[in-house]
Amino acid sequence: MSQVTFNQLLDDVPLYTLVNVSGFLCDNTIKSQEQKRAVVAMGQGVIVDKTTQLSGKLKPSLYCGSDGCNNYTYFEMLNTSQQLVVLNYPSINKAVFRCCNCRQNSYEFYLEITPTVSGNANNDTIFQIQKVGQQPRHGKRAPSKALKLIGKERDLFFKGSLNENQGMGIGAFSYYRRVIDSQKDKIFDEIIKVLTLTTGNETLIQELTDAKAETQFTKAIDKINTALPDGLKISGHNPLTLLYKALSEGLHSHTDEECLELAQDIKVVLFEFSERLDLALRESKELTGAIGRLVKRVNN
Ligand SMILES: [Zn+2]
Repeated sequence: MSQVTFNQLLDDVPLYTLVNVSGFLCDNTIKSQEQKRAVVAMGQGVIVDKTTQLSGKLKPSLYCGSDGCNNYTYFEMLNTSQQLVVLNYPSINKAVFRCCNCRQNSYEFYLEITPTVSGNANNDTIFQIQKVGQQPRHGKRAPSKALKLIGKERDLFFKGSLNENQGMGIGAFSYYRRVIDSQKDKIFDEIIKVLTLTTGNETLIQELTDAKAETQFTKAIDKINTALPDGLKISGHNPLTLLYKALSEGLHSHTDEECLELAQDIKVVLFEFSERLDLALRESKELTGAIGRLVKRVNN
């Protein structure tokens, strides 16, 4: 089971996925409980604290979709949250967070918290937690640059992320595959746009143009032999090859969990690639502008 931060649990981890989390308890409660136990211990007694508190000072960074925010902002815990955590059996706590910026949007999370101790917890204590509910159900939106590539398939992509959010790997994978198959031409066109800004890319442009005739993304990639320029690579890897691997892998993989991982990988690569494409276009525009200005100066 993976260990995540409390913020990651709220923002990233799908529903019904058990993860290890620590460091989200109220420091004052921990301190006063420890002091009380120390006093009792001096009198040779022993007490065990069977409860603890969620910290009211948690400020997770979550997506706020309000008009004024439309971005990741910090959220504060509202006092409608159930902060008491019992330590001797699993319990479900409601945690409510409101955007610190617009003070309009809020999230309700239902967290099933299973302690790994039977008493005396502090911020090193690991808890096994799964989100068993969330309202609104999905706060994350695809970044605007990625939405450019996703284009008319926004609905399918959104359904894919809903599936991903609920831990339905096969579903998420299938939706994302449909999006990429359907938007293959758009993705290739965006790459071609970048390639035409510099010379020497004629072969790759031709290969991409020819590959558009294939209906499936993976079959199209099979036809491309020329590597992408370094500026479009992600950590030195060709994003088209990465997508190809994830998409063809998923057809053979068996478990829902594996499909979920592949779906997440597809999304990450797609998001990152859209950033690269955007950056390449912008840099080239800036460069062309600068060269144009300098040439004018020289000619004057
Ligand atoms: Zn907001």
